[in-house]
Amino acid sequence: MTITDAHAHVGTCDVFGLDQSPADLLAAMDRYGIRTSLVQPFPGVWHPSEVHDQIARMAADHPGRVYGIASVPPHGPPQGYLGEIRRCVEDLGFVGVKLHTIGHAVGPASPGAEAVVEAASDLGIPVLIHTGMGIPFADPGVWLPMIQRHPTVPFVLCHAGGGIVGGAALAVARTCDNVWLESSAAGSQDLRGMRRAIGAHRLLYGSDLIGAIPVEMAKCHALELESADEALVFGEAAVRLFGIGTGAAGPTAGASH
Ligand SMILES: [Zn+2]
Repeated sequence: MTITDAHAHVGTCDVFGLDQSPADLLAAMDRYGIRTSLVQPFPGVWHPSEVHDQIARMAADHPGRVYGIASVPPHGPPQGYLGEIRRCVEDLGFVGVKLHTIGHAVGPASPGAEAVVEAASDLGIPVLIHTGMGIPFADPGVWLPMIQRHPTVPFVLCHAGGGIVGGAALAVARTCDNVWLESSAAGSQDLRGMRRAIGAHRLLYGSDLIGAIPVEMAKCHALELESADEALVFGEAAVRLFGIGTGAAGPTAGASH
């Protein structure tokens, strides 16, 4: 089974007090048999563009092992953050964009949130939304109108409600078929219900933090999936959604607009 981690970070973070180097992430990927990681800056980094460049260098130095996700605070002059997102996708080959609800203090009423989703629609990339810790902005339910306004944009609810609002994450995913749920920090029992309700093809294994990789893997193994479903959760669903890799699976209809 080829493993893809849908949620990884490098760099420093003043919001959560974190620091993960590219070398440490790549070593952990080797240790745990992760072929590919989707890598983004932390929300509390001083200069996101520098970490975007760092991620692009990782991708160039390790073909097929790293794909970038852009993450910038969507506040202030739009040309600033939208320009950086466009640079990430068009110049650096990034495959998604993050809305960090708590780390960037962005809610569905933020003009920047709408601008980022519209940019993602133009660029043909999924939008990842942090959910769970950080309510009310991180409550999946508050994003439902935005998600419904953009039915051709794939949305990934990171942490699938984080064990706090898993029911809301699942309700949004059941309501909108352009929603995927990512497993890091999600409740184990929540994940079981999600898999039953929406299927393994819309569940993405993610670790978020290097130290959490074995824990997050064990949680997904505990779902006791058949091999085909396990392959979906551990990477095939992410490969299809983000259109990465060179296997038989191509982008889904939702990601190909
Ligand atoms: Zn994260």
